[in-house]
Amino acid sequence: MMRLPHFKYHAPTTVREVADLLAAPGDAMLVAGGTDLLPNMKRRQQVPQTLIGLRRVAELRAIESTAIECSAGLSGPRELTIGAGVTLTEIVRDRRVRDSYGALWQAASSVATPHLRNMGTLGGNLCLDTRCNYYDQNYEWRKAIDFCMKKDGKICWVATGSPKCLAVSSTDTAPALLALGASVTLVSADGTRQVAASDLYQHDGIHYLTRRPDEILTAVHIPPMDGWRSVYWKLRRRGSFDFPVLSVAAAAKFADDGTVEAARIILGAVASRPIDASAAATAIIGQRLTDDVIAHAAERAAQPAKPMDNTDFDLTWRKRVMKDVVTYALRELRGDDVREWRRKISKQML
Ligand SMILES: Cc1cc2nc3c(=O)[nH]c(=O)nc-3n(C[C@H](O)[C@H](O)[C@H](O)COP(=O)(O)OP(=O)(O)OC[C@H]3O[C@@H](n4cnc5c(N)ncnc54)[C@H](O)[C@@H]3O)c2cc1C
Ligand code: SF4
Repeated sequence: MMRLPHFKYHAPTTVREVADLLAAPGDAMLVAGGTDLLPNMKRRQQVPQTLIGLRRVAELRAIESTAIECSAGLSGPRELTIGAGVTLTEIVRDRRVRDSYGALWQAASSVATPHLRNMGTLGGNLCLDTRCNYYDQNYEWRKAIDFCMKKDGKICWVATGSPKCLAVSSTDTAPALLALGASVTLVSADGTRQVAASDLYQHDGIHYLTRRPDEILTAVHIPPMDGWRSVYWKLRRRGSFDFPVLSVAAAAKFADDGTVEAARIILGAVASRPIDASAAATAIIGQRLTDDVIAHAAERAAQPAKPMDNTDFDLTWRKRVMKDVVTYALRELRGDDVREWRRKISKQML
């Protein structure tokens, strides 16, 4: 049995207290649902001496819809703010999310299992550690290969000449939130800043977040999505639960005649951060989503995807099916009945 290492535990009740605890010298880490961090600690991938629990911080637990201020008063379109401590189950059960933010709803529904979604939070999902076949192993396994650059070692076993770790961003909700144009609030003892969700991530398997170690992610803000539709597709080994090995979040704003006015297409699990397939999004703007337009966009979306051989499934197969997954996502956006393709992807029949 793998045991947790010893650690000190704090259970603050306000964001201010959390920020003060994080500002103190040391290697303290935040723990929300603990569904990622605690297994990592058991495998000695992460070994903080101090954990700061977020479960008692009530200000992180709300989902609120607020009207955007406009010249005519407060009757403008509504932004959705989701506290970082809201669980994935609570997100899946929220009608506003299901009705207006389809990509987030589908992404949150597809994370892990019901038990893990009951514990796992949105903040924890966005800050989820990057993954790699050479890293997500127990201590003895990693020791047997002399560890790797991400923890305790010097070399990257995926690309031995690589100066940086190429572990894979495996969060389901991040691509969805990037496609929805979301932003996040980060709070520290020094103050508060709001950054675009896309700026929260960077191309580095070790330092995959731009969040500073003394910052707590408190909330996610999703702008009004009137006229938009959004979807999330995920390829994984087991259809019932598993991390993504390739995912696509797509969002588009449609004019009354079906022309795409604005769009975002984001690829997940193909790099150390979610990838913005902007050339593919550009290819559908100003167009109706005909089969030809979708095929052209899928071709362009696959280009920036450079998956490495460090997750499940054969690398060349994953590269090849990227176009298929983008195609399905765009067909769902245009309103096709995609139940059969959803069934096929859950069984990897691509
Ligand atoms: C068997 C299994 C299957 C899984 N499958 C999936 C899957 O399919 N898709 C998927 O996306 N995930 C999956 N996960 C990972 C995990 O369950 C989810 O990502 C979950 O949402 C993590 O949330 P948490 O609250 O438990 O995070 P925690 O484990 O508490 O924290 C994760 C990380 O986020 C940091 N953190 C947490 N909250 C904050 C905050 N507010 N501000 C700053 N940093 C913070 C922590 O310090 C830690 O580094 C799986 C896990 C397991 C064990
Ligand atoms: S990509 Fe390389 S350095 Fe990063 S976890 Fe995998 S083997 Fe280690």
